[in-house]
Amino acid sequence: MKTKIKEIFSSIQGEGPVIGYKQLFIRFCACNLKCKYCDTDFSTDNAYEYSPTELFEKISNEYNLDTFHSISLTGGEPLLFVDFLKEFLPLVKKYNIKIYLETNATLSNQLNIIKNHIDIIAADIKLPSSTGNNTFNEHKNFFKNCNNIPTFAKIVFDNNITDSEIQNCINIAKEYNLELVLQPKMIENQMAVTSEFCNSILDKFTSDYKNVRLIPQVHKFINVR
Ligand code: SF4
Repeated sequence: MKTKIKEIFSSIQGEGPVIGYKQLFIRFCACNLKCKYCDTDFSTDNAYEYSPTELFEKISNEYNLDTFHSISLTGGEPLLFVDFLKEFLPLVKKYNIKIYLETNATLSNQLNIIKNHIDIIAADIKLPSSTGNNTFNEHKNFFKNCNNIPTFAKIVFDNNITDSEIQNCINIAKEYNLELVLQPKMIENQMAVTSEFCNSILDKFTSDYKNVRLIPQVHKFINVR
């Protein structure tokens, strides 16, 4: 079986609690959501097709995998390619490298198929005001299945975030004991909201739930991918 990969590149993780670690990013070419703020090119234009073995040979020949903190599976939505991943991930495990899954946290059945190979889950809680879709129930199902895997939930927000969305996020975080990362939406390399607004949103979250951090996308400030 072969899968199209949009790009493979070395960079630092610019989001969430493992910020600053060197990662090898592998970007998959499709997503099951259409978020209004999405600025990621995961189209199949200029993508290359690999079998699991071919992809493993490529990354192990072209990169010194022992120097990376982790491999970031990103997209698009990597869990759409679970049949590929269940063959690819065991190959990588011969290296001392973690597997970091970036996911929109809506595909719990697919997570269950490969969860034994995942070390860190960077999951989203999507806000209907930012994405145009209400996916809170899908997120709950997803987090129910993340047990025993270090998981944090990222919430991208802008001026449209509502008090009811904040309460929904807090309820999910309490139920599944999640660390929350608030990430202001970016327009190109600028935050779409003011620092004052960020602080006010952080205050609303922390008035009811302490395990919350405000972390902008740092790679955009230091101009790396
Ligand atoms: S889940 Fe991520 S990749 Fe998919 S549309 Fe939303 S922002 Fe884009």
